[in-house]
Amino acid sequence: MSRFLSSRFSALDAYVPGEQPSDMEYIKLNTNESPFSPPEGIADAAKKELEKLNLYPDPDSTRLTKKLAEFYRVETENIMIGNGSDEILAFSFLAFMENGVVFPDITYGFYPVYAELYDVPYKQIPLLDDLTINIEDYISIGNNVVIANPNAPTGIALEIDEIEAITSSNKNHIVIVDEAYIDFGGKSAIHLTQRYENLLVIQTYSKSRSMAGARLGFAIASAQIIKDLNKMKYSFNPYNVNRLTQIVGEAVLDEEAYYKEKRNEIIATRKYTEKRLGELGFLMTNSSANFLFGKHPDIDGYVLYSKLKDMGILVRHWNKPRISDYVRITIGTRKQMDALLTVTEGILTEAIIEEKRNNQ
Ligand code: PMP
Repeated sequence: MSRFLSSRFSALDAYVPGEQPSDMEYIKLNTNESPFSPPEGIADAAKKELEKLNLYPDPDSTRLTKKLAEFYRVETENIMIGNGSDEILAFSFLAFMENGVVFPDITYGFYPVYAELYDVPYKQIPLLDDLTINIEDYISIGNNVVIANPNAPTGIALEIDEIEAITSSNKNHIVIVDEAYIDFGGKSAIHLTQRYENLLVIQTYSKSRSMAGARLGFAIASAQIIKDLNKMKYSFNPYNVNRLTQIVGEAVLDEEAYYKEKRNEIIATRKYTEKRLGELGFLMTNSSANFLFGKHPDIDGYVLYSKLKDMGILVRHWNKPRISDYVRITIGTRKQMDALLTVTEGILTEAIIEEKRNNQ
């Protein structure tokens, strides 16, 4: 820390993204990226746009906004585009949370960071013992709410009528539904934004659209909320989405057949991996996302994470209360998951032999 940092940030714990080590080639199952490249032909759209990089991008992402509005059957005034959904979340905390916000104790780790950054009072509501959200905790809570649906890192999805119940019982507060993983099994609340002016749905191209590297997210909400978010954006960085990302973001919307196939492939691979891990003795949450969250009675979460890393496979582990026994495993290709399963089985066999030896 330099001696120049504003004192209010001295205790700020910044978000720690999943590691990206470059010492060797890893099977990367730690940041919930798609294992599949964007569809062919996308590069051509980007290549043409390269010639225009001397010019600023359209600050309103007008064409992309229009195309997304058509895709999701809302009006353009109901959409805002951001530099990843993280940026939209940041604008939302900045814009709406001055009186506070609540979210689960186990959820996306950026929520408390944004709250700290913007000096927002926040309360973390414990998940139940089975790591599900207790809806009753959020009904008429009289505070702003952020919920990831499906939740991360548990992957557990809420029903759409549960999202509606939270939204309709907190009409004087903003309810943010972070749908980063919605395309892998959950039901989106986008249609409810037409009915509830306090509902803000946030989605991303990073997961189901294979575009984490382009940084593209979007918000769908009432025109008034979108106006407020734009106020934040125009007070911070009007050119938040670069030209290449806007062009590619438009082009991939014509490729729904490709994405449907890839989503189905990921869901099938998740089911396969879940079954195989279950056979190895893992206990897992019921994930509707592109990852699994599980623990094994014979091995500590950190030990499993470290041994997998030594063997060239990256998964995510958090040294946090209630979830330190778990690892989160992104669903990759079938081949990647078979490698994970083989290596995990070897690690478990070794751990069990060692435990027996220690007990003798
Ligand atoms: N929300 C959740 C729940 C996430 O897990 C992530 C990915 N780390 C994000 C939002 C942010 O995604 P992005 O900024 O890549 O759109």
